[in-house]
Amino acid sequence: MPTPATDAQPIDPETRGPVPFGAGRDAPSPPVTPRAGQLEGLQALIAGVAALPGVGAATARRLAGLGIERVDDLVGHLPARYLRYDEARTLGSVQLGEEATVRVTVGRVGVRPTRQRRLKIVEATISDATGAAVAVWFNQEYLLRMLPSGTQVLLRGTLEAGRPPRFMVKTYEVVADAVGGGLHTEGLVPIYPATEAVPARRIREMVDAVRPVIGAAVEALPAWMRRRLALPHAGDALMALHFPRNPREPRAGRRRLVLEELIVLQLGLGALRRLEATGRPAPRLDGDGALRAAVRGGLPFTLTAEQERVCGEIGRDLRRERPMRRLLQGEVGSGKTVVAALAMCQAVEAGLQAALLVPTETLAEQHLRTLDELLAPAGIAPVLLTGKVPKAERERRRLALHSGTAAVAVGTQALLSDADAFHRLGLVVVDEQHRFGVEQRQLLADRATDAGSELAAHLLYMTATPIPRTLAITAYGDLQVSTIRGRPPGRVPVETRWVREPQREEAYDLIRAELRAGRQAYVICPLVDTGTAAEARAATEEAARLSAGPFAAFRVGLAHGAQRADEKRAAMASFSRGETDILVATTVVEVGIDVPNATVIMIEGADRFGLAQLHQLRGRVGRGTQPGLCLLFGEPAGEEGVRRLEALTQTQDGFRLAELDLDLRGEGTVLGTRQSGATDLRYARLARDRRELAQARQIARRALKEDPHLLRPEHALLRAAVEARFADLPRLLDA
Ligand code: ADP
Ligand code: MG
Repeated sequence: MPTPATDAQPIDPETRGPVPFGAGRDAPSPPVTPRAGQLEGLQALIAGVAALPGVGAATARRLAGLGIERVDDLVGHLPARYLRYDEARTLGSVQLGEEATVRVTVGRVGVRPTRQRRLKIVEATISDATGAAVAVWFNQEYLLRMLPSGTQVLLRGTLEAGRPPRFMVKTYEVVADAVGGGLHTEGLVPIYPATEAVPARRIREMVDAVRPVIGAAVEALPAWMRRRLALPHAGDALMALHFPRNPREPRAGRRRLVLEELIVLQLGLGALRRLEATGRPAPRLDGDGALRAAVRGGLPFTLTAEQERVCGEIGRDLRRERPMRRLLQGEVGSGKTVVAALAMCQAVEAGLQAALLVPTETLAEQHLRTLDELLAPAGIAPVLLTGKVPKAERERRRLALHSGTAAVAVGTQALLSDADAFHRLGLVVVDEQHRFGVEQRQLLADRATDAGSELAAHLLYMTATPIPRTLAITAYGDLQVSTIRGRPPGRVPVETRWVREPQREEAYDLIRAELRAGRQAYVICPLVDTGTAAEARAATEEAARLSAGPFAAFRVGLAHGAQRADEKRAAMASFSRGETDILVATTVVEVGIDVPNATVIMIEGADRFGLAQLHQLRGRVGRGTQPGLCLLFGEPAGEEGVRRLEALTQTQDGFRLAELDLDLRGEGTVLGTRQSGATDLRYARLARDRRELAQARQIARRALKEDPHLLRPEHALLRAAVEARFADLPRLLDA
C-alpha cells in the first residue's frame, strides 16, 4: 500500500466512485493543491484500524496478526480470489436445483430440532412479489434475533423441491433497504486472506466501511510511467480490486500494484549498484596458494566438481581490485563451509584477515570447531568472538585481531560493530545470509573495510535457502551468484512420508523403533500465527503430552524461541550428547544443529510451513551413516497445500522445491516469512509476474538515467517510496 500523500488529481471522497481506468488520467499534472476532502481521506488512510466503527482492541490485535495495523494496510490487503455470484433475482425465476441470489422479505422465523441432538435447523418463511419459500440454515440459532419479521435480506443458496420450496442458504446478508447492493451475496465477492478470528466476511465489511477514502490513496508513479505502462491511477486500482464490476478489473488493478512495487524495488537496487560501483576498491588477494594447498591436503575427501567450480569463481573475484559481492548458495550439507574456508585462506595468504559472520552464537561455536579443524593444516587458529566469551578473554582476542596476530575470526554481527576491530580485513563471509536483508548487507559492506588502507573488504554471502534465479536477480540484483548443486557423494537418503491422522499411532511406532535402536528423533511443533510465546506454550504442552504418553519410556527434551539462550543451548547440547532421545522443538532447530545420530524428524502442522523451511528441517536428519526418515503431519485446506506436501515426498532437490514454492505461494515464503526488509514483496509474484519484472527493470533504468537522484518534482513521491522501502540506507539516492 503506498504511503498516503497528495496527488495532482483532486479527489472528492464523497462523490467519487470507481472511475473507468485511464479516463482522463494522463493529462499533464496540475499543481498539487489538495482539497479538504482529500486531506481528510489521507488522514483516514493513515489512521489505525481501531478508528473504524466496530473495531475494538481485540479485533485490532487480530488484524495485526494479518499484517493490518492501519487503514491503508487494510486497503492493501487484497482479495486472493473472487466468488462469481450474479445479481439478485426474483424467487419465481429460480429453477429447482439452481444456485442463485434472491432478495426477499423474512416472515416467520423458528427453530426446528432434529433427531440428531446437536443439529438445529433454523427456518424462515421468505417471499417476494413473485413467490414464497422456506429458507433453511443449519446451527445458526442466533439468526432468530437477527431476522425479525419484515427484514429485507439477500440470500445466496440453492432452491430445492418442497411445499413450499426450500431455499438452502449458503450466505445471507441483511440489507438496509430494498435497493442496497449485496456485499457478500451479489456480483464478484472478494475472498480475502483471513483467519478464523477475522473471517473474510468481516474484512469485506471493514473494507466497505473505508470505501469512500480508498480513492485518496497516494499516486506515487509519475504520469509518464503510468502512461507508458498503461496503468490506472492508484486509487482506481484499489477500488477495482476490492469492488470489481467485471472480472477484468482486478487483473488490471493488481498489475498496477505489482508494477509499482517492482519499480520501487528496482530503483532502490539500481541506486545500490551505482553506489557500489563508485565505491572504494578492494585489496587484491593474490597469494601463492600454499595455505590453500595445505588445507586441501588435510581434507579427508576431495572436492566435488561443483565445489571446484565455485572455488574458481570466488578465487577469481578475490584477485580483482573490485570488491567481491557474491552469494554462494547450496543446500544444507552441500559443502559450502570448506569453500568458504579456502576463500579465507586466500585472504590470509595475501597478508590480510578474514571474518565469518553468523546469525546466532550457537552457529558461531559450531563454525569455529569446523574451521579450526579445516584450517589447522595451514597453521591458522581462528578466534571466536561472541557475547558469551568472558570479558577479559574477549579483550585479548580483540587485541589479537586489531594488531593482526589473529588472522581469522568467527562471530555474530557484533564482530563488525567496531570500525577498526581488524588490522587488515580482506574478506567477510556471511553465513545464512537470508536472515539479513539488503539493508543489513549494505551496512556490512560499509563496515567491512580494511581500516588501515581505506580499502573495501570482499564479501561472500552464503545461504542454504536455495533461491531461484528469477528471484535472485531481483532480490539480490546487486550480487553475483554461485550455486553448488546437489550434495557430496555418499550421503544417506532421507525418506519423506506424509502421514494422515489415522496413521499417527503407526508413526509413533516407527519412531519408537528407531529410538530403541539407539537413535534419536526431532518433533517439530507447528508455526503459530500469534507469535513466539504461543508457539513456546504449544511446544511445552506437546513435550509434556509426548513424555507422558507415546514416549513415556524415553527421555524428552524441549527447545523453543522463548527460552533463555543458555536454556536453549543446554537443551540442544544434551540432545547432541545423546542424553535426550527426542527433542521437541519449534523452528529454532531449523539451522545450526548437527546430530548425526538423529534419524527421524516428525513435523506437525507441516502445511503451515513454507516448502523451503520444511526442506531445511528435513535436512536435520540423514547426516550420519543411517538413512533418515521425515514424517510430515498436516491436513492442508486446499489443493495447493496438498501439492506442496506431495512435492516434498517426491523430491530431495531443494532448488526444485524452491521453484515450486515460488509458483505456489510467492517469494515471501521462499525467503522465510520472518525476513523483512526491502526485498519483501507484497504484491508481486516473480514466478507469475516475469513480464512485469522486465518492464519494471526497464522503466527504473530509464528513470535513473534521466533523473539519477529522482529530484524532479514529478518523481518526489516515487523517491519517498524508495526511501521508505530502503529506510536503512538513508543516503541511497543522495547526489
Ligand atoms: P553446508 O554448510 O553447505 O550445509 P557443510 O560445509 O557443513 O555443508 O558440509 C556438510 C558435510 O559434508 C561436512 O561434514 C563436510 O565435511 C562434508 N563434505 C564437504 N565437502 C565434501 C566432499 N567433497 N566430499 C565428502 N564430504 C564433504
Ligand atoms: Mg553450513
